Amino acid sequence: MSYVNMEAILEHARKNHYAVGAFNIVNYLTAKAAIEAAEELNQNIIIQTSVKTVKAFGIVEMMGFLKPIAENAQVKVAIHLDHSTDVEFTKACIDGGWSSVMYDGSQLPLVDNIKNTKEIVAYAKPKNVTVEGELGAIVGVEDDIVVKEGDHAHAKPADCRIYLKETGVDAFAPAIGTAHGVYKGEIKIDYDLFEDINEFSLCPLVLHGGTGLSDEMFHRLISLGASKVNISTAIKIAYCQGMAAFSKENPAQNDPLKLDAFTKQEVKKVVTEHIRFFSRID
Ligand SMILES: [Zn+2]
Repeated sequence: MSYVNMEAILEHARKNHYAVGAFNIVNYLTAKAAIEAAEELNQNIIIQTSVKTVKAFGIVEMMGFLKPIAENAQVKVAIHLDHSTDVEFTKACIDGGWSSVMYDGSQLPLVDNIKNTKEIVAYAKPKNVTVEGELGAIVGVEDDIVVKEGDHAHAKPADCRIYLKETGVDAFAPAIGTAHGVYKGEIKIDYDLFEDINEFSLCPLVLHGGTGLSDEMFHRLISLGASKVNISTAIKIAYCQGMAAFSKENPAQNDPLKLDAFTKQEVKKVVTEHIRFFSRID
């Protein structure tokens, strides 16, 4: 079975000190491009969907085209819901066939975040669906969730211990200074905090806001224990710029399949580069 939840994929990565790329796909073309890239490198992959993207297609419609690609893949594939702040919508995606979900209650007080995350974990476990949680505030814009620079709050280790123990999440994203979207100004990552949390965390750690980090930053964070790295913005850029470049070069070309083939290659290139780097393939 190639369609799996995140458990086996992330445990293997954590044990073997590499990271799995989790790519935010926006449609069939980007999903296919990402999975083909993973197959060519013989590496497992996590395909993520933002809430906004799922709502644009509909839960049933989106799973309808994603599941066959995951089930027929030559590598392990998890289909994960990214940053859902809505308990009911998260449950609807669990029912709709997602093998993994992120419930993001990071904007809530700790006790409410724990309460909602626990509810999702209890709902997901019997259905063999994994759950990712978050603490602290990852700045930037992800979907329609806006976290301003001033609101930036790193995860506190004491809170993380309580959260992890209480919720029993399968993967954990502590805010350590990375941001969603395109970085403005200097990136300040708290590596010591990340290392500290990884030492006591029973589950694998997730790095959000991967687009724009330097190779050195990725390398250091993966060495310190990041097992899942989220890449969203780089995919969006490759997709939109790929289409724009093709149309500019071929203004008279009206065959959509040629436009799609070119764009898919551009997305695949970006996914390939990231997987190679995260899995330490030279
Ligand atoms: Zn994120």
